Amino acid sequence: MATVKAYAAQDSKAPLAPLSIERRALREHDVQVEILYCGVCHSDIHTARDEWGGAVYPVVPGHEIVGKVKAVGSGVTRFSVGQTVGVGVMVDSCRTCSNCKSDYEQYCEEGMTGTYNALERDGSGMRTMGGYSAEIVTDENYVLNIKESENLAGVAPLLCAGITTYSPLKFANVQAGMRVAVVGLGGLGHMAVKFAVAFGAEVTVISTSASKVQEASKLGAHHFILAKDVDALTPYASKFDIVLDAISADHDYTQYLNLLALNGKLLVVGLPEHQPKVSPFALIKNRRSIIGSMIGSIKETQEMLDFCYEKKIYADIETIAVSYINEAYERMIKGDIKYRFVIDMSTL
Ligand code: NAP
Ligand code: ZN
Ligand code: ZN
Repeated sequence: MATVKAYAAQDSKAPLAPLSIERRALREHDVQVEILYCGVCHSDIHTARDEWGGAVYPVVPGHEIVGKVKAVGSGVTRFSVGQTVGVGVMVDSCRTCSNCKSDYEQYCEEGMTGTYNALERDGSGMRTMGGYSAEIVTDENYVLNIKESENLAGVAPLLCAGITTYSPLKFANVQAGMRVAVVGLGGLGHMAVKFAVAFGAEVTVISTSASKVQEASKLGAHHFILAKDVDALTPYASKFDIVLDAISADHDYTQYLNLLALNGKLLVVGLPEHQPKVSPFALIKNRRSIIGSMIGSIKETQEMLDFCYEKKIYADIETIAVSYINEAYERMIKGDIKYRFVIDMSTL
Protein backbone atom coordinates (compact mmCIF):
# COMPACT_ATOMS: atom_id res chain seq x y z
CA MET A 1 0.00 0.00 0.00
CA ALA A 2 1.11 3.53 -0.68
CA THR A 3 -0.28 6.71 0.82
CA VAL A 4 -0.80 9.43 -1.77
CA LYS A 5 -2.18 12.96 -1.81
CA ALA A 6 -5.64 13.52 -3.20
CA TYR A 7 -8.59 15.94 -3.26
CA ALA A 8 -11.89 14.60 -1.99
CA ALA A 9 -15.50 15.42 -1.21
CA GLN A 10 -16.36 14.32 2.34
CA ASP A 11 -20.11 14.73 1.86
CA SER A 12 -22.56 16.06 -0.71
CA LYS A 13 -22.46 19.62 0.61
CA ALA A 14 -18.81 20.04 1.54
CA PRO A 15 -16.30 21.66 -0.83
CA LEU A 16 -13.53 19.37 -2.04
CA ALA A 17 -10.44 19.46 0.18
CA PRO A 18 -7.06 17.72 0.50
CA LEU A 19 -7.05 14.12 1.76
CA SER A 20 -4.44 11.35 1.97
CA ILE A 21 -5.62 8.05 0.44
CA GLU A 22 -4.23 4.52 0.13
CA ARG A 23 -3.36 2.96 -3.21
CA ARG A 24 -3.08 -0.82 -3.31
CA ALA A 25 0.29 -2.59 -3.55
CA LEU A 26 1.15 -3.58 -7.12
CA ARG A 27 -0.33 -6.87 -8.25
CA GLU A 28 0.99 -9.01 -11.08
CA HIS A 29 -0.94 -7.15 -13.80
CA ASP A 30 -1.06 -3.69 -12.22
CA VAL A 31 0.38 -0.47 -13.56
CA GLN A 32 1.27 2.32 -11.11
CA VAL A 33 0.70 5.68 -12.77
CA GLU A 34 2.00 9.05 -11.63
CA ILE A 35 -0.82 11.40 -12.63
CA LEU A 36 0.19 14.49 -14.62
CA TYR A 37 -3.23 15.81 -15.67
CA CYS A 38 -6.83 15.06 -14.82
CA GLY A 39 -9.81 16.53 -16.70
CA VAL A 40 -12.88 17.70 -14.79
CA CYS A 41 -16.08 16.00 -16.01
CA HIS A 42 -19.58 17.04 -15.00
CA SER A 43 -20.02 13.47 -13.73
CA ASP A 44 -17.43 14.42 -11.08
CA ILE A 45 -19.84 17.11 -9.84
CA HIS A 46 -22.92 14.85 -10.06
CA THR A 47 -21.08 12.25 -7.93
CA ALA A 48 -19.33 14.56 -5.46
CA ARG A 49 -22.71 16.18 -4.74
CA ASP A 50 -24.58 12.85 -4.82
CA GLU A 51 -26.99 14.06 -7.49
CA TRP A 52 -27.44 10.52 -8.84
CA GLY A 53 -27.61 8.88 -5.39
CA GLY A 54 -25.19 6.15 -4.30
CA ALA A 55 -22.17 8.29 -3.43
CA VAL A 56 -20.03 6.76 -0.66
CA TYR A 57 -17.71 9.28 0.96
CA PRO A 58 -14.97 10.24 0.76
CA VAL A 59 -15.30 10.56 -3.02
CA VAL A 60 -12.11 11.31 -4.97
CA PRO A 61 -13.43 12.23 -8.44
CA GLY A 62 -11.52 12.29 -11.73
CA HIS A 63 -11.64 9.90 -14.68
CA GLU A 64 -9.79 11.74 -17.42
CA ILE A 65 -6.31 10.76 -16.36
CA VAL A 66 -3.01 11.12 -18.19
CA GLY A 67 0.25 10.19 -16.52
CA LYS A 68 3.56 8.35 -16.62
CA VAL A 69 4.11 4.74 -15.65
CA LYS A 70 6.05 4.69 -12.38
CA ALA A 71 6.18 0.92 -11.83
CA VAL A 72 4.66 -2.25 -13.27
CA GLY A 73 3.71 -5.63 -11.81
CA SER A 74 5.73 -8.73 -12.76
CA GLY A 75 3.15 -9.92 -15.29
CA VAL A 76 2.62 -6.63 -17.14
CA THR A 77 3.46 -6.96 -20.83
CA ARG A 78 1.91 -3.93 -22.51
CA PHE A 79 3.48 -1.10 -20.51
CA SER A 80 6.90 -0.14 -19.19
CA VAL A 81 8.26 2.43 -16.75
CA GLY A 82 8.33 5.98 -18.15
CA GLN A 83 5.63 5.39 -20.76
CA THR A 84 2.76 7.89 -21.12
CA VAL A 85 -0.61 6.30 -20.41
CA GLY A 86 -4.23 7.12 -19.76
CA VAL A 87 -6.94 5.85 -17.43
CA GLY A 88 -10.56 6.66 -18.23
CA VAL A 89 -13.94 6.03 -16.65
CA MET A 90 -13.61 2.27 -16.12
CA VAL A 91 -10.93 0.31 -14.23
CA ASP A 92 -12.41 -3.22 -14.25
CA SER A 93 -15.30 -5.42 -15.34
CA CYS A 94 -16.19 -9.11 -14.95
CA ARG A 95 -14.21 -10.03 -18.11
CA THR A 96 -16.29 -13.19 -18.63
CA CYS A 97 -19.81 -12.11 -19.69
CA SER A 98 -20.67 -11.96 -23.37
CA ASN A 99 -20.49 -8.15 -23.44
CA CYS A 100 -17.03 -8.14 -21.84
CA LYS A 101 -15.85 -10.85 -24.23
CA SER A 102 -17.03 -8.94 -27.27
CA ASP A 103 -15.29 -5.66 -26.37
CA TYR A 104 -18.31 -4.01 -24.81
CA GLU A 105 -17.02 -4.17 -21.26
CA GLN A 106 -18.55 -0.76 -20.50
CA TYR A 107 -21.83 -2.68 -20.75
CA CYS A 108 -20.60 -5.56 -18.55
CA GLU A 109 -23.61 -7.60 -17.44
CA GLU A 110 -22.45 -7.25 -13.82
CA GLY A 111 -21.82 -3.52 -14.26
CA MET A 112 -18.37 -2.12 -14.98
CA THR A 113 -16.19 -0.85 -12.16
CA GLY A 114 -15.95 2.92 -12.29
CA THR A 115 -12.66 4.71 -11.68
CA TYR A 116 -14.21 6.34 -8.62
CA ASN A 117 -17.08 5.69 -6.22
CA ALA A 118 -17.16 1.97 -7.05
CA LEU A 119 -16.42 -1.16 -5.05
CA GLU A 120 -13.26 -3.02 -6.13
CA ARG A 121 -14.07 -6.50 -7.48
CA ASP A 122 -11.42 -8.26 -5.35
CA GLY A 123 -13.63 -8.59 -2.28
CA SER A 124 -11.33 -6.31 -0.26
CA GLY A 125 -14.14 -3.84 0.36
CA MET A 126 -11.88 -1.05 -0.91
CA ARG A 127 -13.53 1.64 -2.97
CA THR A 128 -12.09 3.08 -6.14
CA MET A 129 -10.66 6.58 -5.92
CA GLY A 130 -10.21 8.72 -9.00
CA GLY A 131 -7.69 10.97 -10.65
CA TYR A 132 -7.71 14.04 -8.39
CA SER A 133 -4.69 12.38 -6.82
CA ALA A 134 -0.96 11.97 -7.24
CA GLU A 135 -1.04 8.33 -8.37
CA ILE A 136 -3.37 5.53 -9.39
CA VAL A 137 -2.86 1.76 -9.58
CA THR A 138 -4.83 0.10 -12.39
CA ASP A 139 -4.93 -3.30 -14.09
CA GLU A 140 -3.11 -3.07 -17.44
CA ASN A 141 -6.20 -4.22 -19.35
CA TYR A 142 -7.89 -0.92 -18.45
CA VAL A 143 -4.91 1.33 -19.21
CA LEU A 144 -4.62 3.22 -22.50
CA ASN A 145 -1.54 3.93 -24.54
CA ILE A 146 -1.00 7.68 -25.10
CA LYS A 147 1.38 8.83 -27.82
CA GLU A 148 3.83 11.56 -26.76
CA SER A 149 2.52 15.05 -27.43
CA GLU A 150 3.24 18.66 -26.56
CA ASN A 151 -0.35 18.92 -25.33
CA LEU A 152 -0.91 16.07 -22.88
CA ALA A 153 -3.27 18.26 -20.86
CA GLY A 154 -5.46 18.55 -23.97
CA VAL A 155 -5.43 14.76 -24.34
CA ALA A 156 -6.77 14.06 -20.82
CA PRO A 157 -10.44 14.95 -21.59
CA LEU A 158 -10.43 12.47 -24.48
CA LEU A 159 -10.53 9.69 -21.85
CA CYS A 160 -14.16 10.54 -21.02
CA ALA A 161 -15.54 13.50 -23.00
CA GLY A 162 -13.79 12.21 -26.11
CA ILE A 163 -14.82 8.56 -26.07
CA THR A 164 -18.35 9.29 -24.79
CA THR A 165 -19.11 11.35 -27.90
CA TYR A 166 -16.96 9.43 -30.42
CA SER A 167 -18.69 6.12 -29.63
CA PRO A 168 -22.35 7.08 -30.30
CA LEU A 169 -21.43 9.15 -33.38
CA LYS A 170 -19.65 6.05 -34.75
CA PHE A 171 -22.55 3.80 -33.76
CA ALA A 172 -24.95 6.12 -35.62
CA ASN A 173 -22.62 5.96 -38.62
CA VAL A 174 -22.24 9.73 -38.84
CA GLN A 175 -20.65 10.61 -42.15
CA ALA A 176 -20.38 13.22 -44.88
CA GLY A 177 -23.64 14.90 -45.75
CA MET A 178 -25.43 14.10 -42.49
CA ARG A 179 -26.99 16.96 -40.56
CA VAL A 180 -25.86 16.71 -36.95
CA ALA A 181 -26.90 18.98 -34.08
CA VAL A 182 -25.02 19.03 -30.79
CA VAL A 183 -26.97 20.32 -27.79
CA GLY A 184 -24.99 21.52 -24.75
CA LEU A 185 -21.59 22.94 -25.70
CA GLY A 186 -19.62 21.81 -22.67
CA GLY A 187 -16.80 19.29 -22.30
CA LEU A 188 -18.66 16.48 -24.07
CA GLY A 189 -20.49 18.75 -26.51
CA HIS A 190 -17.38 20.44 -27.87
CA MET A 191 -15.74 17.07 -28.49
CA ALA A 192 -18.91 15.90 -30.26
CA VAL A 193 -18.63 18.93 -32.56
CA LYS A 194 -14.99 18.14 -33.34
CA PHE A 195 -15.73 14.49 -34.12
CA ALA A 196 -18.86 15.15 -36.20
CA VAL A 197 -16.87 17.72 -38.21
CA ALA A 198 -14.01 15.23 -38.63
CA PHE A 199 -16.50 12.63 -39.91
CA GLY A 200 -17.67 15.12 -42.57
CA ALA A 201 -21.09 16.04 -41.18
CA GLU A 202 -22.80 19.43 -41.42
CA VAL A 203 -22.74 20.44 -37.76
CA THR A 204 -25.01 22.79 -35.83
CA VAL A 205 -24.45 23.80 -32.21
CA ILE A 206 -27.56 24.38 -30.08
CA SER A 207 -26.57 26.30 -26.96
CA THR A 208 -28.08 28.36 -24.19
CA SER A 209 -24.91 30.48 -23.92
CA ALA A 210 -24.67 33.67 -25.96
CA SER A 211 -21.00 33.84 -24.94
CA LYS A 212 -20.27 30.77 -27.08
CA VAL A 213 -21.72 32.12 -30.36
CA GLN A 214 -18.54 33.77 -31.64
CA GLU A 215 -16.16 30.93 -31.02
CA ALA A 216 -18.20 27.84 -31.89
CA SER A 217 -17.09 28.22 -35.49
CA LYS A 218 -13.48 27.73 -34.33
CA LEU A 219 -14.49 24.20 -33.33
CA GLY A 220 -15.53 23.67 -36.95
CA ALA A 221 -19.30 24.01 -36.42
CA HIS A 222 -21.15 25.29 -39.48
CA HIS A 223 -24.19 26.79 -37.73
CA PHE A 224 -25.13 28.03 -34.27
CA ILE A 225 -28.58 28.27 -32.71
CA LEU A 226 -28.89 30.28 -29.52
CA ALA A 227 -31.77 28.50 -27.79
CA LYS A 228 -32.67 30.10 -24.50
CA ASP A 229 -36.24 28.84 -24.88
CA VAL A 230 -38.18 26.22 -26.85
CA ASP A 231 -39.54 28.80 -29.32
CA ALA A 232 -36.05 29.37 -30.68
CA LEU A 233 -36.08 25.78 -31.96
CA THR A 234 -39.46 25.90 -33.74
CA PRO A 235 -38.03 26.86 -37.17
CA TYR A 236 -35.73 23.83 -37.07
CA ALA A 237 -38.38 21.11 -36.73
CA SER A 238 -37.48 17.94 -38.67
CA LYS A 239 -34.19 19.43 -39.93
CA PHE A 240 -31.59 17.06 -38.48
CA ASP A 241 -30.55 13.42 -38.94
CA ILE A 242 -28.81 13.27 -35.56
CA VAL A 243 -29.13 15.28 -32.36
CA LEU A 244 -26.50 14.54 -29.71
CA ASP A 245 -27.74 15.60 -26.26
CA ALA A 246 -24.86 16.41 -23.89
CA ILE A 247 -26.83 18.55 -21.42
CA SER A 248 -25.92 18.14 -17.75
CA ALA A 249 -29.01 19.90 -16.32
CA ASP A 250 -32.66 18.85 -16.18
CA HIS A 251 -34.51 19.16 -19.50
CA ASP A 252 -37.14 17.41 -21.65
CA TYR A 253 -36.25 15.29 -24.66
CA THR A 254 -39.34 16.27 -26.64
CA GLN A 255 -38.06 19.64 -27.87
CA TYR A 256 -34.97 17.91 -29.30
CA LEU A 257 -36.90 14.94 -30.75
CA ASN A 258 -38.94 17.49 -32.70
CA LEU A 259 -35.77 18.52 -34.54
CA LEU A 260 -35.30 15.07 -36.09
CA ALA A 261 -36.10 14.27 -39.73
CA LEU A 262 -37.23 10.83 -40.98
CA ASN A 263 -35.47 8.02 -39.07
CA GLY A 264 -33.58 10.62 -37.04
CA LYS A 265 -31.78 9.61 -33.87
CA LEU A 266 -31.46 11.40 -30.55
CA LEU A 267 -28.14 10.26 -29.08
CA VAL A 268 -28.34 10.71 -25.33
CA VAL A 269 -25.14 11.03 -23.31
CA GLY A 270 -26.05 13.77 -20.79
CA LEU A 271 -27.12 12.47 -17.38
CA PRO A 272 -29.10 15.11 -15.48
CA GLU A 273 -30.25 14.58 -11.94
CA HIS A 274 -33.96 14.17 -12.80
CA GLN A 275 -35.51 11.98 -15.51
CA PRO A 276 -36.36 13.89 -18.70
CA LYS A 277 -39.86 13.63 -20.22
CA VAL A 278 -40.51 12.04 -23.62
CA SER A 279 -43.62 12.59 -25.76
CA PRO A 280 -44.59 9.41 -27.63
CA PHE A 281 -46.19 11.65 -30.29
CA ALA A 282 -42.82 13.32 -30.94
CA LEU A 283 -41.25 9.86 -31.05
CA ILE A 284 -43.60 8.27 -33.61
CA LYS A 285 -43.42 11.24 -35.96
CA ASN A 286 -40.65 10.60 -38.52
CA ARG A 287 -39.99 7.18 -36.87
CA ARG A 288 -37.52 8.82 -34.50
CA SER A 289 -35.46 6.91 -31.98
CA ILE A 290 -33.60 7.66 -28.77
CA ILE A 291 -30.27 5.91 -28.26
CA GLY A 292 -28.38 6.08 -24.99
CA SER A 293 -24.63 5.52 -24.87
CA MET A 294 -22.18 4.95 -22.03
CA ILE A 295 -18.51 5.93 -22.60
CA GLY A 296 -16.89 3.34 -24.92
CA SER A 297 -14.88 0.14 -24.63
CA ILE A 298 -11.14 0.09 -23.97
CA LYS A 299 -10.61 -1.03 -27.57
CA GLU A 300 -12.71 1.81 -28.97
CA THR A 301 -11.08 4.31 -26.59
CA GLN A 302 -7.67 3.32 -27.97
CA GLU A 303 -9.01 3.65 -31.52
CA MET A 304 -10.35 7.14 -30.66
CA LEU A 305 -7.04 8.20 -29.06
CA ASP A 306 -5.12 7.07 -32.14
CA PHE A 307 -7.65 8.87 -34.40
CA CYS A 308 -7.20 12.08 -32.39
CA TYR A 309 -3.41 11.78 -32.55
CA GLU A 310 -3.52 11.35 -36.31
CA LYS A 311 -5.99 14.22 -36.84
CA LYS A 312 -4.41 16.44 -34.14
CA ILE A 313 -7.70 16.61 -32.22
CA TYR A 314 -7.41 17.83 -28.63
CA ALA A 315 -9.87 19.16 -26.11
CA ASP A 316 -9.98 22.96 -25.71
CA ILE A 317 -9.00 23.41 -22.10
CA GLU A 318 -8.32 25.76 -19.22
CA THR A 319 -5.58 24.34 -17.01
CA ILE A 320 -6.11 24.88 -13.30
CA ALA A 321 -4.43 24.22 -9.96
CA VAL A 322 -6.19 21.59 -7.88
CA SER A 323 -7.01 24.19 -5.21
CA TYR A 324 -9.25 25.93 -7.80
CA ILE A 325 -11.52 22.88 -8.14
CA ASN A 326 -14.50 24.22 -6.17
CA GLU A 327 -14.58 27.44 -8.22
CA ALA A 328 -14.22 25.34 -11.37
CA TYR A 329 -17.33 23.34 -10.39
CA GLU A 330 -19.34 26.54 -9.90
CA ARG A 331 -18.21 27.88 -13.27
CA MET A 332 -19.11 24.59 -15.01
CA ILE A 333 -22.62 24.71 -13.56
CA LYS A 334 -22.98 28.21 -15.03
CA GLY A 335 -21.61 27.01 -18.39
CA ASP A 336 -18.67 29.39 -17.92
CA ILE A 337 -15.85 27.32 -19.44
CA LYS A 338 -14.56 26.82 -22.97
CA TYR A 339 -14.72 23.87 -22.74
CA ARG A 340 -12.96 21.67 -20.19
CA PHE A 341 -11.02 22.32 -16.99
CA VAL A 342 -7.92 20.16 -16.62
CA ILE A 343 -6.09 19.95 -13.31
CA ASP A 344 -2.30 20.21 -13.46
CA MET A 345 -1.59 17.57 -10.84
CA SER A 346 1.87 18.99 -10.03
CA THR A 347 -0.09 21.58 -8.00
CA LEU A 348 -1.33 18.93 -5.58
P1 NAP B 1 -20.41 20.38 -18.93
O1 NAP B 1 -19.04 20.57 -19.47
O2 NAP B 1 -20.77 21.03 -17.65
O3 NAP B 1 -21.42 20.82 -20.09
C1 NAP B 1 -22.81 20.71 -19.96
C2 NAP B 1 -23.48 21.71 -20.91
O4 NAP B 1 -24.90 21.56 -20.77
C3 NAP B 1 -23.23 23.16 -20.57
O5 NAP B 1 -22.03 23.65 -21.10
C4 NAP B 1 -24.42 23.83 -21.22
O6 NAP B 1 -24.17 24.06 -22.61
C5 NAP B 1 -25.51 22.77 -21.15
N1 NAP B 1 -26.49 23.12 -20.12
C6 NAP B 1 -26.26 23.30 -18.80
N2 NAP B 1 -27.38 23.63 -18.18
C7 NAP B 1 -28.36 23.64 -19.12
C8 NAP B 1 -29.75 23.88 -19.11
N3 NAP B 1 -30.39 24.18 -17.96
N4 NAP B 1 -30.44 23.77 -20.28
C9 NAP B 1 -29.82 23.47 -21.42
N5 NAP B 1 -28.50 23.27 -21.50
C10 NAP B 1 -27.79 23.33 -20.37
O7 NAP B 1 -20.72 18.83 -18.74
P2 NAP B 1 -19.99 17.56 -19.43
O8 NAP B 1 -18.83 17.17 -18.62
O9 NAP B 1 -19.85 17.82 -20.87
O10 NAP B 1 -21.11 16.43 -19.16
C11 NAP B 1 -22.40 16.53 -19.77
C12 NAP B 1 -23.30 15.44 -19.20
O11 NAP B 1 -22.86 14.18 -19.71
C13 NAP B 1 -23.27 15.31 -17.68
O12 NAP B 1 -24.58 15.05 -17.22
C14 NAP B 1 -22.37 14.10 -17.45
O13 NAP B 1 -22.61 13.44 -16.24
C15 NAP B 1 -22.74 13.25 -18.63
N6 NAP B 1 -21.76 12.21 -18.98
C16 NAP B 1 -22.22 11.04 -19.50
C17 NAP B 1 -21.34 10.07 -19.90
C18 NAP B 1 -21.85 8.80 -20.53
O14 NAP B 1 -21.15 7.79 -20.52
N7 NAP B 1 -23.03 8.82 -21.12
C19 NAP B 1 -19.97 10.26 -19.76
C20 NAP B 1 -19.53 11.48 -19.26
C21 NAP B 1 -20.42 12.46 -18.86
P3 NAP B 1 -24.54 25.47 -23.32
O15 NAP B 1 -23.79 26.50 -22.55
O16 NAP B 1 -24.05 25.27 -24.69
O17 NAP B 1 -26.03 25.60 -23.25
ZN1 ZN C 1 -16.79 11.74 -17.40
ZN1 ZN D 1 -18.77 -8.51 -17.89
